[in-house]
Amino acid sequence: MTETISIRDNKKPVILVVDDDQLMQVMLNDTLATAGFEVIIATDGISALQHFVSDRPDIVLLDLIMPGKDGCETCQEMRTLPGGEHTSVLMMTSLDCPDSINRAFEAGATDFIAKPLNPELLVHRMHYMLRASRNVKRLAESRAKLEILKVAVDSLPIGITFCDVNGIIVYSNPAEASIHGYEVSELVGKEARKFSTSNRSRQLAADQLQKLGVWRRESVNVRKNGEEFPAQLTSISVCDRESRYLGIITTCEDISERKVAEEKIHQLAYYDLVTGLPNRGMFLERLQQTLAQAQRDRDNVNLLFLDLDNFKDVNDTQGHDVGDKLLCSVAERLSSCIRDSDVLARLGGDEFVVVCPSATMQDNIAAVIQRIQSIFVHPFEIEGKQLYSSASIGIAVYPDDAVDASTLFRCADTAMYQAKNEGKSQFRFFSAEMNQKIMQRVALENSLRLGLEKQEFFLHYQPLWDIKTSKMAGVEVLLRWQSSEFGLMQPATFISLLEDAGLINNVGEWVLRSACLQMRAWDKTEHRDLKMAVNISGKQMKHPRFIEMLTMIINETGVNPCNLELEFTESVLMENVEKTIETFRTLKTMGIQLSIDDFGTGYSSLNYLKHFPVDRIKIDKSFVSDVTANGSDTAIIEAIVAMAQSLSLRVVAEGVENSDQLYSLTKLGCDEVQGFYLAMPMHADELTESLGKKHGKSSDKLPVTEWFDKRTV
Ligand code: C2E
Ligand code: MG
Ligand code: MG
Repeated sequence: MTETISIRDNKKPVILVVDDDQLMQVMLNDTLATAGFEVIIATDGISALQHFVSDRPDIVLLDLIMPGKDGCETCQEMRTLPGGEHTSVLMMTSLDCPDSINRAFEAGATDFIAKPLNPELLVHRMHYMLRASRNVKRLAESRAKLEILKVAVDSLPIGITFCDVNGIIVYSNPAEASIHGYEVSELVGKEARKFSTSNRSRQLAADQLQKLGVWRRESVNVRKNGEEFPAQLTSISVCDRESRYLGIITTCEDISERKVAEEKIHQLAYYDLVTGLPNRGMFLERLQQTLAQAQRDRDNVNLLFLDLDNFKDVNDTQGHDVGDKLLCSVAERLSSCIRDSDVLARLGGDEFVVVCPSATMQDNIAAVIQRIQSIFVHPFEIEGKQLYSSASIGIAVYPDDAVDASTLFRCADTAMYQAKNEGKSQFRFFSAEMNQKIMQRVALENSLRLGLEKQEFFLHYQPLWDIKTSKMAGVEVLLRWQSSEFGLMQPATFISLLEDAGLINNVGEWVLRSACLQMRAWDKTEHRDLKMAVNISGKQMKHPRFIEMLTMIINETGVNPCNLELEFTESVLMENVEKTIETFRTLKTMGIQLSIDDFGTGYSSLNYLKHFPVDRIKIDKSFVSDVTANGSDTAIIEAIVAMAQSLSLRVVAEGVENSDQLYSLTKLGCDEVQGFYLAMPMHADELTESLGKKHGKSSDKLPVTEWFDKRTV
């Protein structure tokens, strides 16, 4: 028979008492109910199991020895029921022997209590167990929640790591490991920063991150196989309740696909599909940026608007495919003739634009125009056919023509239409004044090219005099151009043109070879060992085969390199100091003499001189012209001479035009002089003649040496 006595009160803790002894049932019910528990009585194991399921007791007080299912069996089965794992079971035994206690524990009892029971002790014990069982339940609940959380985090498709205060990974989810090509176990224990190529993460100290709270960034991460990939990272600093920093949780997403998509969208939005050049949108953006920069730098910007002259005909007669290919070829050739800082874009149709920032000098823009026009000289090979094309170019200049992008653009467009009206292959500046200047320059440059072909260049030689010995110390070679169109031209008007047109190396090589041949010719006369100074342009020196070319000429002509002197201007030296020093050292090992020309006009610091292995400095004529009148120029020459002496360099004063200057320069301690007063630049034959004629075959004195003879300094 099953008998149940229960006192129900929902708020009270529920105790299931299982005992076959009626006296015990009554005693336990009384004691526990009085102590505030709700008591359910089961008289055997089977009913105990039923009550356990239906009443969900907080504690089970279970008699060990019962007829039928005994306490151990009942406990064992109870443990398998829902909620059975975490419910406290207190086994009552009258047998105070270790064996029965062991059996009770083996069956899953939480604790035991020996009969006879002390009611007070029992109530205490119940309270204690209740507390313990509640804690166990809470623990079980949070463990279950954690388990759910772990399952969730482990199955998330984005990577998650937790790093401790030292940046060591203490947790990684499978997605994080797989993104980086590792197993989870391989990641744990490693330094998180090893997976990023960026140095920033390591620079961020823990407290900085704490301040940042949440830190989002794009980074380049590295997979196990070394492959790099773009990653979107979000880090959150984690602190405990006392605000102590515990570490960082970081989420990581592989955004390679997103980047490819973004790049594609960017390409579609900003680039022309046919040529791959920036499109109108990108061009306008870049133009605005360039103008803003030019405004800050007080610089000029040239905007060139190009329109192909015969493109419609190509499209109509050859088809659009050929037309597209022609546009691509034009784009390719145009790209090769602009600087990295220039912007080339296709606006659509047959219209292209070039933005040239910092092209302040008219020379530069003229050179750009010429380069652009030259790309149309040769035909374009398209599908086996040779197609000729040309472009009309309109140019507007910021800030002269307009200060905002859209007006500047309209000016260039207008200029382009003017060019088109003039006929094919023309260019026009928006401003008439500019037009004229550039036209002249282009005409000069074209004439220069022709002049080169027609051999219109020749050389003049101007003597230099040694003040101490009163003898000619050598000659300087000066280039001249007898233009059939413009008459006799001085180097000041055409050297920079030669440089811009890319002709300086050819002409410079010709000058060197001709000068060396002349040296050989003089070597065969009584004027042997005459020192010959040749001017070298900066562009010439920078040419990668400059030394090679020079060596070849020396070997070819058989001159003594010790008699050859190369003159470089001050500004050229400072363009790339290290490279120049290296070139100078090579030239010195070849035995060549070096001098710094136009000294004082560039970098007035005398200090840098000691770094360059030079033999001579030539004081610029601007100081010489005022040496007698101007106190400060005299002081400058004095300083230059003193410094040169301390470095064992010889000082040459150029541009000496009268005896007063010569007197002052002699007094100031210059070693050599050159100038119209002493001798004009002249043809080689003239010089040979005057050397011999005036003072007999054995003398190398010219008339002015009389001054040296009479001087009193
Ligand atoms: P520079 O090397 O300083 O040459 C001296 C210049 O001063 C020459 O001008 C010469 O004619 C001029 N001169 C000489 N004595 C006097 C004088 O008493 N008074 C005045 N006012 N001028 C005098 P030029 O021949 O017109 O050459 C100008 C510059 O062109 C040269 O200056 C040199 O830098 C450059 N140059 C000349 N020939 C060449 C060359 O073959 N290659 C290179 N790269 N540059 C050259
Ligand atoms: Mg010179
Ligand atoms: Mg000079």
